[in-house]
Order: sequence, then structure tokens, then C-alpha cells
Amino acid sequence: MSNPTKKYDLVVIGGGPAGFTAASVAAAAHKSVALIDSHRELGGAGINTGTVPSKTLRETALALSGLRSRSLYGVDLSLRREVTVADFLGHEQHVKAGFNAMISERLQSRKTDVYFGNAAFTDPHTVKVALHPEDGQAGAEEIVLQAEHILIATGSSPVRPALFPFGDTEIYDSDTILKLDRIPKTLAVIGAGVIGSEYGCTFAALGAKVHIIDGRDILLPFLDDEISKGLAAALERSGITFHWKEKVEACAAEASSAVTLKLSSGASLTVDALLVAAGRQSNTEALNLAAAGVATGQRGVITVDKNYQTNVAHIYAAGDVIGFPALASTSIAQARCAVGHALGLESVTPSPLLPNGIYTIPEVSMVGETEESLQKKGIDYVVGRAKYSENARGQIIGDVDGFLKLLFDRQEMKLLGVHVLGELATEVVHIGLITMMSGGGAHLFAEACFNIPTLGMLYKSAALDAIQNAAA
Ligand SMILES: Cc1cc2nc3c(=O)[nH]c(=O)nc-3n(C[C@H](O)[C@H](O)[C@H](O)COP(=O)(O)OP(=O)(O)OC[C@H]3O[C@@H](n4cnc5c(N)ncnc54)[C@H](O)[C@@H]3O)c2cc1C
Repeated sequence: MSNPTKKYDLVVIGGGPAGFTAASVAAAAHKSVALIDSHRELGGAGINTGTVPSKTLRETALALSGLRSRSLYGVDLSLRREVTVADFLGHEQHVKAGFNAMISERLQSRKTDVYFGNAAFTDPHTVKVALHPEDGQAGAEEIVLQAEHILIATGSSPVRPALFPFGDTEIYDSDTILKLDRIPKTLAVIGAGVIGSEYGCTFAALGAKVHIIDGRDILLPFLDDEISKGLAAALERSGITFHWKEKVEACAAEASSAVTLKLSSGASLTVDALLVAAGRQSNTEALNLAAAGVATGQRGVITVDKNYQTNVAHIYAAGDVIGFPALASTSIAQARCAVGHALGLESVTPSPLLPNGIYTIPEVSMVGETEESLQKKGIDYVVGRAKYSENARGQIIGDVDGFLKLLFDRQEMKLLGVHVLGELATEVVHIGLITMMSGGGAHLFAEACFNIPTLGMLYKSAALDAIQNAAA
């Protein structure tokens, strides 16, 4: 049985960071909005399997292991007791549930109609939702929604190469790792991308011996080269072993037993558990995009223009479904921009700069140009650096390896790029981000009076270093 067609200004498919933001922006502009998600726990990968769980687990690992306090002179709280899965996952489940409830309440208070079920296009303006049994309104099994504008924000899922026998084995992807039943003593990670590196660090913090295997020989190549190398060295110091330029040729595993990998070099590796972080696939297969005429590329990625319009002008796409950089932060920024354009909201302007935060241990964050990108563009630049070990707050918190690196254009000393490796890097980067957005540079930092002791003071030190380097 089906209900009559419902009409909206905007239909949003997907209730992750992109979809939730899109619905909120449209509802705040007094537009009629429907949001559809196939999961009853709203928040998508951002809340349920990605950003929030992985960062909660990282914090839990740091707290339980005492790692943060290890380099404080005379303080050693490290590994006070064996960490259990209940310790490890308990806080994550609590944080996740809080966010699920908050998102539902916010959508309700903004009068957004929420439908739980799988959405698929039947024509360019129409979406059919196969409702969850408990959501069938008046016995309906499906509902048809029509809209002037549609935003696709269906996210992405981990790729599972056929080589790895997932199932009843100790082989996980970034979704199923949250269902671990014990903390492995040895862990191999396939893929030295952001997700593989972050989880590698979390498990290393819990005391696991971690091996990261990658076909390339550079860690996170989009980073400034100095930061990439500094991060790789820091991870090696923490006990992680990288197996660069290696491919897995065979993988053997049986239920509840060790996993054995045969590598392209001929080496073999046996571990308690394996995390496969070999990239992600856009969730577009079930959408029947052909009925709407929306084109996709490799791994189901939807191509969009600068306003996040697909090849069908009234259908927009934002978030992981459009590919790199595939972050919650950028998904939110893209969705705001898409809805602002679709609904003609002049107050919604695009974010000119998108930072990148990587929650390895230590953290890394960047915004703007790298040395390599400036060299490619032929821009004359000056570098300024400041070490955490020479900063009062850095010393107090015991981060002896961290540093801030700023890139300025030589002529006006305007800030062009910010790179941070160290504790709270993903917070520290924001001072540089706002400075770049407002066109500031080295002399602004030199003039400003910063609180002491703070990591913010690193900006003044790095700017003074750059001014000195420019004069040399
Ligand atoms: C392990 C991990 C760690 C991460 N860490 C960070 C981080 O620290 N910082 C950061 O910024 N980002 C991080 N990310 C990335 C971040 O989670 C994603 O970029 C973000 O969730 C993408 O948001 P989205 O709204 O595009 O899609 P999603 O969050 O994936 O949401 C998509 C939603 O669409 C729904 N859906 C899919 N198909 C259909 C359909 N046919 N019908 C109805 N509903 C459908 C899904 O159920 C889902 O709820 C991480 C990701 C992972 C996996």
C-alpha cells in the first residue's frame, strides 16, 4: 500500500553531516524540507561509524593508556591496567547515542519531515522511499516525495577487496572495527591513508604492535612533505612498523584465529587482527540515478560543479558521495553552499578555505598551500617555524616533537599556508585559518599579544622566525 505523493521545496537523501546541515539551513529559511535516511540512528558515518566514534576511541585510548602523561617529568600513569573492550567501546557508545538523540530533536524542532527507509529516484523530481516496517505511516510500505530541488548526501562505505575473507574472521573494516570483542595484541592495517593511520595510532596507544602496509612509500602525500616525513618518524617512534611499497598477495584467516598475510616482497606476517582501510566507495548504487539522469564516475563518485550541482541542474550532491576530501567538516561546508545556491539564500556564502585535520598520535592539521604547491605555482615564499619544545605550553604538556610551520608570500608576508604537527594541532590550525581568511600575515602575529602559556603563542614565534628569514 502506498501514500499519496508529498511535495517539498527540498528533499535531502542522507542524514549524515551533509544531509543534516542541508535540512537545517533550508528549514531555517522557512522552506519545506524532507530528510530520508536508511538508518534510524541519524548522523551517518560522521556520528555512527566515522568521525565521532574514531575520535572518541582515540581519546579513550589516550586516557586509558596514560600516553599523554608519559613525557611529563616524574609522572608515569602509563598502562595502569589491561584495557578491556568494555572500557574501550563504552564511552564511544554513550557519545554516539547523545548525538543521535540531539540530531533527531533538532530536526523535529525545525519541522523537518524525517523518513526512515531506502530512497531511490523514479524520475528527476521524484524519490520513492521504501519505509522501515515500523515507519510505515497508516500501514504504508513506501512513500513518494517530490521536490523542486534534491540534495544527494548518501555518503560512502568502506571498500572490501575480494582478497580478504571478511565475515566470521578477525578481519575488519572501519565500520566493523567498532564491534571488536577483544583488543588485539598485534594488528595489521592495510592502507596508510587517514583512516588506517588514525586507527593504527589508536591501537598502538593501547599497546598493540601495529603494522601498516601500503603500496606507496609516502605517508599522506597531500600533506606538506616536511610534515608527512615528521609524522611518519613520530609514528615509527611510537612503535608502528610501516611496510612501504608492499601489496598483499594472499590473506588466510579462520574464525577466531590469527590472520596471515603474504606480501609482494615474499615476506609473511601473522597478526591477531587485520583492519582493511583500502579506500571508500560512494553510496550511489541503490539510488537508481539513471532514472534522474545523474552521472557518476569511478567508485560511484558523483561529479559536481563549484555550486555542488550535478549534471542535472536541480539535483545537488555534497559530502563523501562527491569524493575527496571526504571529511565531516568539508561535507558540512559543501552542503551549506549547495542549499544556499539551490534556494537562492544570499546570506549563505561558501567557505573559502577548507582545513584538513588528521587525528593520528600526534595530531596533524593544515590549511592552504604546502611548500610543494607553492613551488609548483612559482610563488616566492618564506617559511617560519616554531617548536613546541621551545613554547611554554608545549613544554608543560610534554610535547617535545611538535612544531608549527607557516608559509608567507615573500613580498607582503601574507599567510599562505599553515601546518601543525603535535598535540591539539587540529585546534591550533584555526588561528591560521581565520588569519588567512582575513588576509593577515606575519606582521599581524608579530603585533598581537598572546596569552602565555599557550600553543597560540607558536604563531608569534613562527612569524618572527619568518620575518628574520625574509631579512636574511
Ligand atoms: C573511521 C573514520 C574516521 C573519520 N574521521 C573524521 C574526522 O576526524 N574528521 C572529519 O571531518 N571527518 C572524518 N571522517 C569522515 C566523515 O565521517 C565523513 O566525511 C562524513 O560522515 C560524510 O558525511 P556525509 O553526510 O557526506 O555522509 P555520511 O555521514 O556517510 O551519511 C550518509 C547517510 O546517508 C544514508 N544513506 C545512504 N544511502 C541511502 C539511501 N539510498 N536512502 C536513504 N539513506 C541513505 C546513510 O544511512 C547515512 O546515514 C571519518 C570517517 C571514517 C570512516
